[in-house]
Amino acid sequence: MEFAILHGEIVKRSEAKVDVEDRGYQFGDGVYEVIRVYNGKMFTEHEHLNRLAKSTDSIGISLPFTNENLKGLLVELIEKNKLQNGIIYMQVTRGVALRNHAFPTEYVTPCLTTYTKKIERPVDSMRSGVKTILTEDIRWLRCDIKSLNLLGNVLAKQKAAEAGCFEVIQHRGQEVTEGSTSNIFIVKNDIVITHASDHLILKGITKDVLLVVCAKNNLRVEERMFTIEELKQADECFLTSSTSEVMPIVEIDGNKISNGIPGPITRKLQEWFGQEIEKQCGSLNEKITF
Ligand code: PMP
Repeated sequence: MEFAILHGEIVKRSEAKVDVEDRGYQFGDGVYEVIRVYNGKMFTEHEHLNRLAKSTDSIGISLPFTNENLKGLLVELIEKNKLQNGIIYMQVTRGVALRNHAFPTEYVTPCLTTYTKKIERPVDSMRSGVKTILTEDIRWLRCDIKSLNLLGNVLAKQKAAEAGCFEVIQHRGQEVTEGSTSNIFIVKNDIVITHASDHLILKGITKDVLLVVCAKNNLRVEERMFTIEELKQADECFLTSSTSEVMPIVEIDGNKISNGIPGPITRKLQEWFGQEIEKQCGSLNEKITF
């Protein structure tokens, strides 16, 4: 039997139901997190729980749980669901209230729901690299908040799916921002370049871990705006996310990047990222080797 968390309690997954007037359901008025689990252990859970707290703060929801309470519940959920490899999905909405755009005037308890899903590392794609297409970034100007309002991201990912691609690379005019569910990096002359974590992108936890990994290994990083032209001229390109880790991009709009195979720095970063996972979660059975 599968279990989920509803309002701070572990319940049967089939009993975790919310009201039709939950503001997350009606307005997307809430935020979420996805935490990766390897070998039954959470990876970078503090960073994810801190980002959840930051997201709720930024939209004026006060979480009725501390990070410690939440962590305890998540550990229990992983055990009850016997989750070895997968994700924990958590979302917090402003709660249930009569439909009205402005916040409820009376106090409403925020609605926390959490469940788990088994997934494996996408090792085949990590070895071969993936195809992408460019698309204009039509989202709002607070992409730093991990909001439930994902319509822009949904429409973008659908374009990728229809083009037989893994991901889109979004841009505002000439400025490359991020993927629909990932951060985008390029490598040029041994320098790793990625958009700065401002209001136009989500500050990815994978991105931040990778930037520390680059610093440890004396790889030069520039967190700055880069253009479509720089992207097309890049030596290597890759994306990062909790589920994709470090995923090589070998094609953009039908044009090959680094001869259509994952570049050497991308491959090194995959290996080093794998070592970071192993430090926190123990040995990975499939190493990414070429
Ligand atoms: N940007 C967007 C829009 C995302 O949805 C994600 C995935 N949550 C990321 C970046 C990568 O974030 P993380 O590394 O924390 O999974």
